[in-house]
Amino acid sequence: MITASCFSPHEAILGWLVAGDVPLDQVLAKKVLISSEDVIKDIEHIPMKCLDESVSLARVRKYFRANAWKTVADLVERVMEESTWFCVVCNNELDTGESIGCDACLEWYHMKCAGVQNKPKKKVWICRSCYKTKNS
Ligand SMILES: [Zn+2]
Ligand SMILES: [Zn+2]
Repeated sequence: MITASCFSPHEAILGWLVAGDVPLDQVLAKKVLISSEDVIKDIEHIPMKCLDESVSLARVRKYFRANAWKTVADLVERVMEESTWFCVVCNNELDTGESIGCDACLEWYHMKCAGVQNKPKKKVWICRSCYKTKNS
């Protein structure tokens, strides 16, 4: 379940919010509702990228009891809070300026720290140190 693609429908989303012993097929058939004890407590297993706007959690809300949904909301909030991303150059939060991610090392930089003036037109951007490693 955890390894399922983030962009597949309901089952994948439920897969990383709900503990492993919940029968997801029954849930999807709306035979059982997920209760708050079934919601996972360990946020480490929630893939960050699943929490961005491309996945709307509200879609799976109908499978949860009201109190369970509250647990999910708290969980997501915690993940968001603990996932502050820092610029590898200046160590400040990325929120403080426009940022850019290197497609080789997957590190994130402020654009100004990376020496990038404007958003690159190309989809793929490689940071200076990766560029150097590649070309040496
Ligand atoms: Zn920076
Ligand atoms: Zn890099």
